[in-house]
Amino acid sequence: MVEGLIFDIKRYAIHDGPGIRTTVFFKGCPLSCWWCHNPEGQSFGRELMVWSDRCIECRTCISACPNSAISISNSSIVTERGKCRICGACAAKCPANAREIVGKTLSAEELMAEVEKDHEFYGESGGLTASGGEPLAQPVFLRVLLKRCKDAGVHTTVDTSGYAERKTLAKISNKVDLFLYDLKMMNPRKHKLHTGVSNKPIIENLKMLDKLGKQIIIRFPLIPHVNTADANITSMCMLLSGLKNIKRICILPYNKLGIDKAKRLGKKARPCAKPSDRLLAHTLRLIKNYGLAVKIGG
Ligand code: SF4
Ligand code: SF4
Repeated sequence: MVEGLIFDIKRYAIHDGPGIRTTVFFKGCPLSCWWCHNPEGQSFGRELMVWSDRCIECRTCISACPNSAISISNSSIVTERGKCRICGACAAKCPANAREIVGKTLSAEELMAEVEKDHEFYGESGGLTASGGEPLAQPVFLRVLLKRCKDAGVHTTVDTSGYAERKTLAKISNKVDLFLYDLKMMNPRKHKLHTGVSNKPIIENLKMLDKLGKQIIIRFPLIPHVNTADANITSMCMLLSGLKNIKRICILPYNKLGIDKAKRLGKKARPCAKPSDRLLAHTLRLIKNYGLAVKIGG
């Protein structure tokens, strides 16, 4: 039985590929982008999320914790992450839903049963979107899930950073109808600084998918002071205008959603700036000048 770790299933999604989709968020990602809006998707293990604003200070969690990881400090409930074993005892007892374990192990069959529940809404174009986190980081689980979708006549989309072994990507590509492919920065040094990894395999994998004739939508997160320089955008456009199967580029303006989530996970957030309307219009114009289809949003 093949199992995977996921952190969410979003039903009736309309921004994660064509039509109405069921988006499955795989847990774990080899990148650590500064602007990540799903920080709960980065770690490959389960995590404890704490909503301090929901806490009614009943102290139930303190007695529930078998590892003495929760205490009172300066009149607030604090969790010592180093002592937490992610057992979930506090979350099970909290009457205010202020604590939650993020990450659930499911078999491919269990997940497919969830996907099938929405089959009647998919119509011609909708289907499954594997997102994350990075779905390619759980390749066996992803492959089995995609195969089951294809067997059931469900359209498949994979939303990926493109950072994966070439052979892993090649192996799953024949079960993928559409790739939502992130392209963040063309400068290798800056890419490594802001995401933690090299962009070389990402660019090589993109070229490979294009050669294989796969349908690709590029997702470009627009992060002021990080990747908005004309040099980055023109270099990206030069690469993309030489490829044959890029349907369009979607500009994804930075949003602050990840900051609160990171805090709830006990992680440090790196706030970035929201792009101005002027910057968005300028970026759109630059990309259009290369004859590429482009829009704002997913
Ligand atoms: S998840 Fe378990 S170990 Fe962690 S704080 Fe809650 S009860 Fe304690
Ligand atoms: S059990 Fe929940 S509501 Fe009660 S103190 Fe702990 S976190 Fe707050």
